[in-house]
Amino acid sequence: MKKGIAILGSTGSIGRQTLEVVDRSEGRLTVQALAAGSNWKELLGQIEIYRPRLVAMMDTEAAERLDEALRERELPIPVVTGEKGLAEAACLPEVDTVVTAVSGAIGLGPTMAAIEAGKEIALANKETLVAAGPLVMAAARRREVAILPVDSEHSAIFQCLQGQDRRLARLLLTASGGPFRDKSLEELRRVTPEDALRHPNWRMGPKITIDSASLMNKGLEVIEARWLFDIDFDDIEVLVHPQSIVHSMVELADGSILGQMGLPDMRLPIQYALSYPERWQSGWPRLDLTQMAALTFRRPDLERFPSLELALTAGRTGGTLPAVMNAANEVAVHAFLDRRIGFMDIPRIVREAMEAHEWRQEPDLPGIRRADEWARRFAAERIGKGREVSA
Ligand code: NDP
Ligand code: MG
Repeated sequence: MKKGIAILGSTGSIGRQTLEVVDRSEGRLTVQALAAGSNWKELLGQIEIYRPRLVAMMDTEAAERLDEALRERELPIPVVTGEKGLAEAACLPEVDTVVTAVSGAIGLGPTMAAIEAGKEIALANKETLVAAGPLVMAAARRREVAILPVDSEHSAIFQCLQGQDRRLARLLLTASGGPFRDKSLEELRRVTPEDALRHPNWRMGPKITIDSASLMNKGLEVIEARWLFDIDFDDIEVLVHPQSIVHSMVELADGSILGQMGLPDMRLPIQYALSYPERWQSGWPRLDLTQMAALTFRRPDLERFPSLELALTAGRTGGTLPAVMNAANEVAVHAFLDRRIGFMDIPRIVREAMEAHEWRQEPDLPGIRRADEWARRFAAERIGKGREVSA
């Protein structure tokens, strides 16, 4: 098997690890297109190594700098820009599989374009499924393209479900609990971005790391699982498992539980999404179970981690609410990273946006985009006001 891939978000944590998987693929994977936000220097380095046919940068100024640098190096590779450019990179004829590894709902448009073009999706960008799960899955069914999970929990479930009837399964989604697992509500109000960015088990981009600390990430993942596996919310249970060894489990009709284990290393689920239905050798470090003291599981505390409950409410309500919840969270997380709000202001702003929003039941793609944009404006305004009050 030989696959041409496009990586949307190649300069990020998942993007760079995807390139490591390409390096070890013995020529089975070839990079056809790369895309990023504004980090043109990192992208330039990648272009020099992988020589893609086309590159895309969201930011036009960064794209100009990149274009100049490519000319200087006599590398005649076209640079396209904006959301359209990302979609163009994803839809190249030589691309079989698109790895969606941008951060945030910005991934929605290019992912939809790739599906419409008949491309297989290796999906890391969970915000896309959160904002528009029903539309994305309907398009994938219509175009008969597979959406293969990269997210470690969903990859685990996907692996456990091979050969099983997923309609007869319950999903047990594990969560590390993040760096604040054992902090009190009082302590949580005072944590800093540095505290939150120190994740005990995983090295990831800043946005998902904050989501892991608030457990919003697990809420987004429940919604992601609901759509990926076409399963009822009532059949998905979240379990806090601090060791991050069991990446998730499925409970089958007869009560048997299957789980997938491994070290916390994203290269494995990335590789499985790209090799599927094959399974390739890998040289990554392996799990030594004799080095494990204990594997523990418990229910999450929704009082200290209200973001999880907000996401579950949004997911169950459906319509435009998940897009609103997700967009407000993105804005609030960035404000927290910029020290403009406190950690516990994140769920407050998300809740306010969810309460103020005029809900629509069956939005189309433009309807999702309007809800997303409304929520971003609402959250930005709320954050602005909060600042005046505390100043
Ligand atoms: P990073 O922040 O490390 O990387 C984000 C990537 O997206 C970068 O390439 C960045 O480009 C690009 N990007 C950011 N903003 C834009 C934009 N507006 N337009 C176009 N490109 C943009 O994130 P991660 O790699 O950690 O996460 C990526 C996705 O994968 C997220 O949806 C996350 O939830 C999911 N995921 C990540 C996991 C992980 O271990 N990291 C695990 C499971 C899921 P630039 O560098 O130029 O800014
Ligand atoms: Mg995950």
